[in-house]
Amino acid sequence: MSNLAKRFWSKVNKEGPIPERRPELGPCWVWVGSRERRGYGNMCVDGRSKKAHRIAVELTRGPIPDGLEVDHLCSNTSCVNPSHLEAVTHAVNVARGRLAEANARRGAERTHCKRGHLFDERNTSRNSFNGRRFCRTCCNDAQRQRFHARKEAPIASLA
Ligand SMILES: [Zn+2]
Ligand SMILES: [Zn+2]
Repeated sequence: MSNLAKRFWSKVNKEGPIPERRPELGPCWVWVGSRERRGYGNMCVDGRSKKAHRIAVELTRGPIPDGLEVDHLCSNTSCVNPSHLEAVTHAVNVARGRLAEANARRGAERTHCKRGHLFDERNTSRNSFNGRRFCRTCCNDAQRQRFHARKEAPIASLA
């Protein structure tokens, strides 16, 4: 590992939060070094301040093509997890930012449950009482666990 890489990864906490809107991405890797006001991490490289998330991409995937910006799929500006980062054109980045804002304003429903299962037609149920969605996979898991917790459950009830 290069000195730069060593210095860089020593300032990363890989047990960051799970992105609320994209839990399937897994935990954010949070930059614990210096940050600028909007949350983007900074590191000094060859006497110049560079954005931490761009360094993360360069260290893992090589140079970022000219003119591309690095977008956070997790919307966490201090995240440097390469799998949460994507090099996109400025136009795409701006369009995504607007979409995210519009979604936030509309209070758009999440696409995945908190354990990362997709809320598609098959996996989504609604509570007939309050209309809230819930995840069938999680619900089934919980039922199975309750079943196994009952040690003396008769075999016949397996059906
Ligand atoms: Zn992230
Ligand atoms: Zn679920």
